[in-house]
Amino acid sequence: MVHPSYNARCQKAISALKSEGRYRSFANLKRQCTSFPKADSISMHGTRQIKIWCSNDYLGMGQHPSVLRAMQSALETCGAGSGGTRNISGTTSYHVMLEKELASLHGKEAALLFSSGYVANQSSLSTLVQLFGGCMVLSDADNHASMIDGIRFGRGPKQIWRHNDLEHLEELLIRLPLDEPKIIAFESVYSMDGDIAPIAKICDLAEQYNAMTYLDEVHAVGLYGEMGGGIAEREGLLDRVDVINGTLAKAFGTMGGYIAASTSICDAIRSYAPGFIFTTSLAPTLVAGALASVQHLKSSNSERTLHQLRARQLKVRLTAIGLPVIANDSHIVPVLVGCPTTCKAITDQLMEDHAIYVQPINYPTVPRGTERLRLCPSPVHSMDDIDELVDALDSIWRKMDLARIQSLEAAE
Ligand code: PLP
Repeated sequence: MVHPSYNARCQKAISALKSEGRYRSFANLKRQCTSFPKADSISMHGTRQIKIWCSNDYLGMGQHPSVLRAMQSALETCGAGSGGTRNISGTTSYHVMLEKELASLHGKEAALLFSSGYVANQSSLSTLVQLFGGCMVLSDADNHASMIDGIRFGRGPKQIWRHNDLEHLEELLIRLPLDEPKIIAFESVYSMDGDIAPIAKICDLAEQYNAMTYLDEVHAVGLYGEMGGGIAEREGLLDRVDVINGTLAKAFGTMGGYIAASTSICDAIRSYAPGFIFTTSLAPTLVAGALASVQHLKSSNSERTLHQLRARQLKVRLTAIGLPVIANDSHIVPVLVGCPTTCKAITDQLMEDHAIYVQPINYPTVPRGTERLRLCPSPVHSMDDIDELVDALDSIWRKMDLARIQSLEAAE
C-alpha cells in the first residue's frame, strides 16, 4: 500500500486547485450515435438526455455513416488492435492508404501518423530540433502545450514571439545568423480565442530569414479549404508551409494525429522519433474510419458550409443579447466570463436547469482572468438547438446579474 505521505502530497496539490475554483470534474457521457449532439449524462442522480455544446467533433463526423461502415468493416476484417509498432507488424494497408491520402490533402510528398495530434507535435518538433543540431525555435506565445513540450524536449534554444505579432517575430529573426537552422512554430486557428494566424506573412519572413515553418492546423483540418486541407489550403499556401500538423480527432471525428511534409522530413522523423517508433500503431478500425472521413470531406463541402453558417448564427444571436462574445473569423464561439467560479456556476446551471453541457474553460488552458465558455456549434446543431442555448444563457445571465455588452443594434 502506498505510504500515506504520498497520498497527502497529492491531496495538497488537489486542494490548491479546489481553492482556486479550477478543480476539474468530468461529465460522464454516452454520446448517442446518429443523434449527436444528444447524449446521455450519467450522474449519481441517474441518467438523463442532454445536448453537448462543447465538442470538437466539429462536423459530427464521429457518427457519419461512411465512417461507421469503414470502422465496422475494418473490425470484421482485421480485428481490434494493430498488434504492434509500425516497425514490428503494426503497419496495415489502412495506415499506408491514410498516409498517402493525408499527404495529398496537404499537397505534400509524405505524411506520418501518430497516436494523437499531441504526440505528433511533441515528437516531430523535438526530433527536428535534435536532428538540426539544437536549432533555434521561434514559438508563438499562444502555442498549444504539445508544441511547447516538443520544443522543450528538443533541448535547443527557443524564443517566444508575441502572439501573431509579425514585427516582434522579425525583430527576433533579424538577430539570428542567416545560415543557422531555425523553425517558426505556430498554429492556424487558435482554439481558445478562435483567431487566425497571418500565415502568408509568416512564410514571407521565413523565406527572408531562411527559417523552416511548422504549422499546427489541428483546429482547421477538415474545416477550411475546398478539400478540408485547412487554412493553408484555403489561402493557397500549402507549398509555402514546410510541416503541417493535424489531428484525426476533431473535424475528422475519430482519433490519431499526423504531420505532412517532404519525404526527407517524414523519413527522418519516422526513423528517429521515439514517440513514433516505440509505441503500438493506431488500431486499424480508427485508421479506416479516419480514411473514410478524410475522403468524404475532400469531396463534400456541405458540412463545412453549414458549420460556418451555424457559427455565424450563434455569434449574431449571442451578440444581440449583449453576451461578451470574443470576436474572431473562425468557427469557435468563445464567451468571456473572466472568473473560474462564475464560469463553473454558469455551466452547472446550464446542465442542471437546461440539460445543456458546456465545459468551463479555466487556467492553464487560458490565462487567469480570461476564463470562458467555449461554444462549438456544428452542422448537427439545429436552429432550435441554438434558440434553446441562447434562451438558457440569457436567463442565467439575468439570474446571476452578469455584465452585458450593449449590442450595436441596441445602441443605434
Ligand atoms: N494542437 C492543438 C492546437 C490542440 O488544440 C490539440 C488538442 O486539443 C492538439 C494539438 C492535440 O491534438 P489531439 O487531441 O489529437 O491530441
